[in-house]
Amino acid sequence: MNLAAIGFGNAGGKIVDRFVEFEQSSGRSLTTGVLAVNSAEIDLAKLDVIPPDRRLIIGQTHERVKGRGVGADPELGATIARQDLTEIERQLDDVPIHDTDGFLVVAGLGGGTGSGGAPALAERLSNIYDEPIYGLGVLPSSDEGGRPSLNAARSLQTFADATDNLMVFDNDAWRQTSGSVSAGYEETNWEIARRFVTLLAAGELDGSQVSESAMDGSDIRRTLDPGGLSTIAFSQADLEAQTREQQGLLGRLRSNGQHHPEEGDLAMKIHGLVRKAVQSRLTCPANIDSAERALIVVSGPPREVSQKGLQRARQWLERETGSVEVLAGDDPRADADALSVAVLLSNVTEVPRVDALQQQAVDAQESTERQAAQRDEAIDDLLTDDEGELDPL
Ligand code: GDP
Repeated sequence: MNLAAIGFGNAGGKIVDRFVEFEQSSGRSLTTGVLAVNSAEIDLAKLDVIPPDRRLIIGQTHERVKGRGVGADPELGATIARQDLTEIERQLDDVPIHDTDGFLVVAGLGGGTGSGGAPALAERLSNIYDEPIYGLGVLPSSDEGGRPSLNAARSLQTFADATDNLMVFDNDAWRQTSGSVSAGYEETNWEIARRFVTLLAAGELDGSQVSESAMDGSDIRRTLDPGGLSTIAFSQADLEAQTREQQGLLGRLRSNGQHHPEEGDLAMKIHGLVRKAVQSRLTCPANIDSAERALIVVSGPPREVSQKGLQRARQWLERETGSVEVLAGDDPRADADALSVAVLLSNVTEVPRVDALQQQAVDAQESTERQAAQRDEAIDDLLTDDEGELDPL
């Protein structure tokens, strides 16, 4: 499908930046327009690929912001986003809407600008456009502490309500155990781009590649239609150099078109990759049998894609999820050097991390209130003379 992607806040902008880079390096086409929106000039300046005229600074006239960010305050993030919605809309006027299947608003939910701004923008877009508005929300890692959890738990509710489907990525499940946080994010953002772009760009081909059961944008949309929260499974197998060579034009001539891998082996490979994807780490861990719909995309050189394998994998996932509807299709990429499988599990209702986040948020809110009350009492004690001998001014 083709989407207009808006990265809101620091994480949102960096992730959309990686989306574009992944599109360029893999020859896929997902975005019909991109925009990075932020209240901190310094974060916008750090993006690599999104062109400068597609970066928008908001909240500049707000006395507490002035280009320096909102200090992880989502309420301030929402306020300045609402104040500058007209300017954001104006930037989106450039999106070729006839070639666009929907909007994707991307944000980290534990901070301020994205946490508050992304739901506000999604709400506005859904009032203006007939196209679906999807979200990609990044949950904070549990070791970031109470405040990010509180921000994310509050934002998650509003963002899910404001979008036609909110796809989720959980930083906690993807926490890197070594190296700096920013290097960790750099790696994680690639993993996010690989999964989301492989899935969502399925079906956007240049017309030169044929396929028996090609996935298209309407299949993805249909799977996202139930709304709620979604998660993505992914796995990939590098193709052996020899196979690749035989697939190239020269290789095909040299082998006189004789390279025909065994259908049975290919079917087993696809089925195995789908199982591996679903049994590996999801973008947000969830109980897969709580999904309402699912969709399997197998992306790679057409001669590696076995229709029998696709069918078997679909039947297997139907049994695993107990889901009424599982769609499966391929996404032919003649030049791909890997066979990739992305599985969308839509409207999952059993997501332990979301429950934990909500609990952490309630605890954080209670502890903040308790601390505020204790502070009030302490400052009262400090400033009041115990004997009542002083008259206040
Ligand atoms: P904002 O600019 O105020 O929206 O805040 P940030 O985007 O900087 O941070 C919000 C949350 O996003 C943090 O609490 C982190 O959990 C997460 N985060 C920040 N940067 C990245 C990143 O580059 N990648 C990922 N995956 N998460 C990030």
